[in-house]
Amino acid sequence: MSKPREIDDRFKRFGTVSFTSVTKVSDFIDYLDKGKVMGTCCIDCGRKFFPPRADCGFCLSSHMEWFEVSGKGKLLTYSKLKYAPVGFEGDLPYFIAVVDFGEYKVFGRIANDVPEEDLKVGLEMKTVANKLASGQLNYVFVKA
Ligand SMILES: [Zn+2]
Repeated sequence: MSKPREIDDRFKRFGTVSFTSVTKVSDFIDYLDKGKVMGTCCIDCGRKFFPPRADCGFCLSSHMEWFEVSGKGKLLTYSKLKYAPVGFEGDLPYFIAVVDFGEYKVFGRIANDVPEEDLKVGLEMKTVANKLASGQLNYVFVKA
């Protein structure tokens, strides 16, 4: 009798509600647990991806390496959510945003303690790993 295949479902620890449990980039969760927000970089063509991808969408290479999302990015756009998907209702209102780091952009949530009046396009922000009260992991944007 063959042993059942082990499922790598580390991604079920991601976010308020995890919509994906099995991916080829589950190391992302281990890095997040250690306080690092990571993307992937194509070794063959140098393009950077966030969220991390196992394959390059430009040259189709699967030779990827991890890089840390670090430094300051600029707030490109943001939106205040007054209605939320199922599972996120208790968080309302909250802000989602895109922060531009130059070689790549990051989509995510703005930390709850960033005052709304401080938000403006161009604001310098950084991405930080975050542990939710439930034990789930995510990342948020804070002022740089
Ligand atoms: Zn590539």
